[in-house]
Amino acid sequence: MAACIFCKIIKGDIPSFKLFESDKVLAFLDIEPLSRGHALVIPKHHGAKLTDIPDDQLSEILPVVKKLASATGAENYNLLQNNGRLAHQVVDHVHFHMIPKPNPEEGMGISWPAQ
Ligand code: 5GP
Repeated sequence: MAACIFCKIIKGDIPSFKLFESDKVLAFLDIEPLSRGHALVIPKHHGAKLTDIPDDQLSEILPVVKKLASATGAENYNLLQNNGRLAHQVVDHVHFHMIPKPNPEEGMGISWPAQ
């Protein structure tokens, strides 16, 4: 969809720090992270709500979250999907927040390679 920020990120028209990409899914760092390593995992299919996304794209999201966790050693994180305005969804392209939960004794979060 032409006006969608996340579709522009998928196309490369808006720069992002990409963490993972396949033909169906893209993961990149959130521009306003709640903790270091805050990532967004999105289906490439444009749709505002979870019900708009084909199952074959949705089913690839959690394996990507697992890959990201394994790649960084992240053990403590929240996985969040805001669906609808009343649920605080701002960007109308389905996305899953992966928000590392920092260990207070070890700093602000996790570091992705080259971050
Ligand atoms: P929502 O409230 O819709 O669940 O969250 C949207 C998220 O998208 C926010 O955390 C916001 O920081 C992030 N975001 C919005 N615009 C951009 C952008 O242009 N680039 C990146 N990397 N993240 C964005």
